[in-house]
Amino acid sequence: MIPSNLVKPCVRRLRAYEAKEIPCRVKLDANESPYELWSAGDNKLGRILRRVPLNRYPDPAGTKLKEILALRHGVRADRLLLGNGSDELISMLVTTFGGPVLYPVPTFSMYGIISRGLGEKTVEVKLERSFDLNLDRMESAIRKSRAKVVFLSSPNNPTGNAFSSNRIQRIIETTPGIVVVDEAYHPFSSTPSFITRLKRHPNLVVLQTLSKIGLAALRLGFMVASRDIVNEVNKVRLPFNVNTLSQMIAVEALEERDTLKEAIGRIVQERDRMMRMMADIPGLRVVPSDANFILFRVPDASRVYRGLLQEGILVRNLEPAIPGGLRVTVGTRRENTAFLHAIRKVRL
Ligand code: PMP
Repeated sequence: MIPSNLVKPCVRRLRAYEAKEIPCRVKLDANESPYELWSAGDNKLGRILRRVPLNRYPDPAGTKLKEILALRHGVRADRLLLGNGSDELISMLVTTFGGPVLYPVPTFSMYGIISRGLGEKTVEVKLERSFDLNLDRMESAIRKSRAKVVFLSSPNNPTGNAFSSNRIQRIIETTPGIVVVDEAYHPFSSTPSFITRLKRHPNLVVLQTLSKIGLAALRLGFMVASRDIVNEVNKVRLPFNVNTLSQMIAVEALEERDTLKEAIGRIVQERDRMMRMMADIPGLRVVPSDANFILFRVPDASRVYRGLLQEGILVRNLEPAIPGGLRVTVGTRRENTAFLHAIRKVRL
């Protein structure tokens, strides 16, 4: 056992992010894509594997991948930074700017875990009942706390809704610190990306990830911001943070735009079908989703969670953060139908 006084108090107080592997038949708990678009058995990936120079360090700057992302998003490559998942970029941003770190709640738990682990103060501001941003509360908390970094996940995890664009815009305009718009779920939303607004706002950072569109195993996130911000954050990036395999596979995969687009389209279509079907189940309240998952509320979330698991369906229990809240990821049509069947069977 290590003496507890060796561990920094801010770390000792933390609870680790829960990412358990729970055996199940249908896995709908982690907002992944259900489609294995590229598998290791494919010729294409086989060719990449044969080409990887395993004795060499990766390209530290991820040049080729950044070029492709830059083209795709209409920005210059020097405005991009790659992360080992967007998780790592969140950590790099907090390391660069420090706290207080402010975010609305409920939201993605890693904003808090990373910030507290780095010894930074966190400020949590309640969302409205509709789960949109409450501008008065946000603005006054940002002012009072002198927040250095504000994280806005839009669409928001775990509520699924995109925040009103004009409210996000207003926060960007009135915050003296950095505002990070985390667009992890943007591909599933009809709201436009904030990447196009970067030119007008030197304090804006936009995060996106390849994790939700079928490439979670690669651990690849990217941030877009002003060159100044990119240069500062790049100073705390560990060298070679994105491995060669991930870089090479991502380069190939991103070229297959139609494959990606088609899978996203299927998920959006299935999400809308699930929302319609779920809305008709008595005792269940659905929150409209712009993401690849759906938040719903039942009288007793733990009981429904266990009931679904007995049927082989794994979802995410959001209690105590959201009383009665459960989150289901949109899977394949068959998986979703299995979920809908099971949820009707479990007594609410
Ligand atoms: N941001 C949000 C809002 C998320 O929900 C997640 C994944 N759960 C991430 C960032 C992290 O994604 P990754 O590290 O896989 O890119």
